[in-house]
Amino acid sequence: MTGQAIPERQHTTSDNPAAGSQHELYLDAAASDAVSADVINAMIPFLTDGYGNPSSVHASGKTAARALDAARASFAADLGARPNDVIFTSGGTEADNLAIKGIALAQIRRERNTTTTSPVPPKRILISAVEHPAVAQSAQWLHDFFGFDVVRIPVDAQAHLDLDALSHEAEQGAALACIMMANNEVGTIEPVDHAVRICHAAGVPVHVDAVQAAGTIPVDFRGLDADTLAISGHKFGAPKGLGALLARSRVAIEPLMSGGGQERGVRSGTPNVAGAIALAVALREACSGMEERNTRLAASRDVLITAIRDAVPGATLTGDPTNRLPGHASFVFPNVNGEALLVDLDARGVEVSSGSACAIGRHEAPGTLLAMGLSETDAKSALRFSFREPLHDADIRRIAKALRDSMTALHVPDFAPLN
Ligand code: PLP
Repeated sequence: MTGQAIPERQHTTSDNPAAGSQHELYLDAAASDAVSADVINAMIPFLTDGYGNPSSVHASGKTAARALDAARASFAADLGARPNDVIFTSGGTEADNLAIKGIALAQIRRERNTTTTSPVPPKRILISAVEHPAVAQSAQWLHDFFGFDVVRIPVDAQAHLDLDALSHEAEQGAALACIMMANNEVGTIEPVDHAVRICHAAGVPVHVDAVQAAGTIPVDFRGLDADTLAISGHKFGAPKGLGALLARSRVAIEPLMSGGGQERGVRSGTPNVAGAIALAVALREACSGMEERNTRLAASRDVLITAIRDAVPGATLTGDPTNRLPGHASFVFPNVNGEALLVDLDARGVEVSSGSACAIGRHEAPGTLLAMGLSETDAKSALRFSFREPLHDADIRRIAKALRDSMTALHVPDFAPLN
């Protein structure tokens, strides 16, 4: 197997706090992150020598199939899943689409089967009001093409799901409920275990979007007892375009792509062997030492939160202040447009996001913030700072200074820097 020199991983923050260089500070890990040298090195042999198709019966095919099996087993183990639960996909968006459309279409197939005796649930999909567009738009598609009612379950001012409302709606029956594990815009960790119990008591299967959670906080698929769960690799150090749907065999899923019947017949297409290996290696890296790293991440996040509040009086933290992703700080800022602030900060070498990555460029108010009850103007002033390595104090000072300088340069009304 050939190896080749791989550049060292670029850290999100300066390794030398005293350097004061003008390197870019990348604070958008919730959108995507770097791929480590170990992950790239693990992929290379299966792009060069071990390139066989895992479905082929010859030796090269068997080598690839064994590697795919090993990657599947390792990936499953780190998510509290069994190897057979794992359906590799092209990322979180595909995993969400496959679960939501696939489960609903399987229900439609059952309805059309005139010999079915078991009751078919009503054509309703329950989704939390703060779901990512990959979930919300999949549900909307089912409404547009198959007449499903999409019922949005409200959240409180910190984006926690309203469990009473969920219980009320679940009791009326539904094909599926979709609850995210951690919110991409404001970082709030949702009460998914409680939500699963409520839905199952009412006979409603549950899809969990764990795209922001997997590789960042512990995920225990079987322990949670979710029916399906979506994962995206580029949020924890695998290349973009890789992910998985974890799916219990008890839930019927209609494939969205017709083909050779790979991945339990649910996701046809020649498996991306090197990609599966990247997912497994990146997830193992992300899970090892997670607890200790998260303690340090949360500590630096809290220093950043204080620094931002000091730099911009009136800046308000959004989401749950403590039960949130450890490397996630999100704010709304007074009297300023978040996009304008983002562009100015970028020019100062500080890269952040104004909401979910997918909404960028459309200048839409982040949907989570609107669902939390914020005005459109406040929602449009939002910025998200997300990182997977603890921040150095010098970097935090630099972020605070850049924010002050940007607010001043943008002539934000009523902004008076304290120092
Ligand atoms: N779900 C959530 C909560 C996300 O944050 C994202 C991406 O940001 C997705 C789904 C889509 O994942 P992918 O980028 O892998 O398609």
